[in-house]
Amino acid sequence: MDLNLDVRYLKGVGPARAKLLKALDIKTVKDLLFFFPRDYIDLTPVKLKEAIEDQKTTFFLEVKEPGQDLITRSGIVLTKIPVTDGENNANLVFFNQPYIKSNLFKNEKLIVIGKLRKNFGEYEILSPQYYKVKEDIKKINKILPVYSLTRGLTQKNLQKIIEGAFRDYYLLLKSEEILPQFITQKYDLMPKAKAVYEMHFPKNWDSLKKAKDSLAFEELLIFQMGMRATKEYLLGKKRSNIYRDFNLSPFLNNLPFKLTRGQKRVLKEILQDLNSEKVMNRLLQGDVGSGKTVVAASIIYLAYKNGYQSAFMAPTEILAQQHYENLNKFLNPFGTKVEILKGNMGAKRKEILEKIKKNQISVVVGTHALLQEDVEFANLGLVITDEQHRFGVRQREELVKKGFYPDVMVMSATPIPRTLALTLYADLDISIINEMPKGRKKIATYLVNSELKHRVYKFMISEVEKGHQVYIICPAVEKNNFGLLSVEEKYDEIVKEFPDLKVGILHGKLKNAEKDKVMEDFLSKKIQVLISTTVVEVGVDVPNATLIIIENAERFGLAQLHQLRGRVGRGNLDSCCILITDSREEDARERLKVLLKTSDGFEIAQKDLELRGPGEFLGEKQHGLPEFKFAGYINNLKMIEETKKLADFIYDKGLIKTKEFEKIREIVSERIRHL
Ligand code: ADP
Ligand code: MG
Repeated sequence: MDLNLDVRYLKGVGPARAKLLKALDIKTVKDLLFFFPRDYIDLTPVKLKEAIEDQKTTFFLEVKEPGQDLITRSGIVLTKIPVTDGENNANLVFFNQPYIKSNLFKNEKLIVIGKLRKNFGEYEILSPQYYKVKEDIKKINKILPVYSLTRGLTQKNLQKIIEGAFRDYYLLLKSEEILPQFITQKYDLMPKAKAVYEMHFPKNWDSLKKAKDSLAFEELLIFQMGMRATKEYLLGKKRSNIYRDFNLSPFLNNLPFKLTRGQKRVLKEILQDLNSEKVMNRLLQGDVGSGKTVVAASIIYLAYKNGYQSAFMAPTEILAQQHYENLNKFLNPFGTKVEILKGNMGAKRKEILEKIKKNQISVVVGTHALLQEDVEFANLGLVITDEQHRFGVRQREELVKKGFYPDVMVMSATPIPRTLALTLYADLDISIINEMPKGRKKIATYLVNSELKHRVYKFMISEVEKGHQVYIICPAVEKNNFGLLSVEEKYDEIVKEFPDLKVGILHGKLKNAEKDKVMEDFLSKKIQVLISTTVVEVGVDVPNATLIIIENAERFGLAQLHQLRGRVGRGNLDSCCILITDSREEDARERLKVLLKTSDGFEIAQKDLELRGPGEFLGEKQHGLPEFKFAGYINNLKMIEETKKLADFIYDKGLIKTKEFEKIREIVSERIRHL
């Protein structure tokens, strides 16, 4: 018996089911045992009359009679299904899903999960989730795991298969333990096999939490040890690119402004790196608009003067284009050749690649396109990635490998609270620009609900009449049932209401060339109002834009809203940000109010972290933090810090070399093998 056994040989699986499981990426018994539920449902039912309105609740209900459709004036089909809990009656209400009627029969027993509302004295549960139950409710476990499924496989099937697998393989699972006993004891962790079992069949909420925490602990510890190992490795890396010329004066004297103190300090830190014996690995953090690009340009200038090529990677083509233009502006006076590599350039690409290889181009800007194999440098000495949260460590390393121990600078405008940054970017040194260029105006920020829409539009028109430009941000691209306003609907609305306005539309589903065209038109003022998703979030610089209107503001994280707000106020014009939300949840409004009080990105990030907890804060891809399988499970910062301390302890005391750590050692060295 072996955990790597093909699942098809498991009892109750066979070739047909094995195929279905494969669609879920489950190939071996081990994959199956580690295929955790995506959610859990509390099956302790509440009586209708005891439920708190507007709060997600579980009910145990029986269908009283077949459902009926109602068509509203606005053309929505409402399907109402009368149900009872034995004492009180209610209606399940579904929107535009008339087929539900034919799925729910009289006397059918249901577990229903949803928010209860009173409507003219009648109970209603709007768009609930429901599960049919055949057995007596008492026999069902109190916590129902919910797995991601694929067509042809039911929750029940999967549960049965997993149950069977545990019967035969539980003992083997014990060999998956990688933590030494002194750690599990000291931190009160569940043994691995038990934790894995508990994830599928939780006894109660407390034991489920402990199981998750235990697995998260292991994951974080491995991560922290990987960081430590990387750092150890990098620290030992000797510089091979020698800098002799450190004179930045020609470059700085040519700028139309003076550097801020923050920029100067950061440059000093960077120059020290370049003057040291070790390769630079530095994270440059600075709030939106703090002027990171010019810092990047300064060191690119130095690299050029010392004979090295630079690669500058941006997350989107729009940004790459903008950096390309800026770098040209900054560096052309010194004869530095700057080029851009884009996705589809046709024959031109070959020509550029040839020149890069022959060292006829000193700076190459681009997106992921830079990572492609055929991009070869003659003498790549400096790698800069902008808005690092869009790139993984892997990608950074891929670019690094194109040079010979190049210096690396990672720039991020998404402030991460210092404690987090220190632990999560433990492989980088950190520099922070903590100051804005002088003369920046505060961006007036307002929180309104959509009833005020027409006043907002009036304001928008007055801005346009002044010759300024406006962004409107929506969370979705197309019309949808999630209550998210879409770019397309907004576009139709604005065009209809203001036929003379020049309106543009921008979102991720457009082709790159189309996106570029729209951005160009916005920059050259051919578009007055740009309706967009968050694709404009990072870095785009249009100083003439003075108003940003953000719809469904509650749907965005604070840090993200702060980024969006940073799209305006980039010139010397008075600017304004209007957050629109109809959310009635007090939490959501409180959260948004943080933005009215402060414009300090670090403070906002700290608040975001406190209010939502690191689970959600870190969960957001935009922070570029590693994706943890258990990220959603991390509920306190403490564990991140704890594991960091433990990892340092294990290294500092030399424990990493002992037998107890053999398994961890293997995993960690596997992780950093690509370096
Ligand atoms: P970010 O840090 O968000 O990438 P940018 O580098 O795009 O910010 O800079 C924002 C704007 O501020 C640019 O137009 C840039 O030219 C300008 N800028 C940068 N540094 C200074 C400075 N020291 N004084 C005045 N303007 C500056
Ligand atoms: Mg930038």
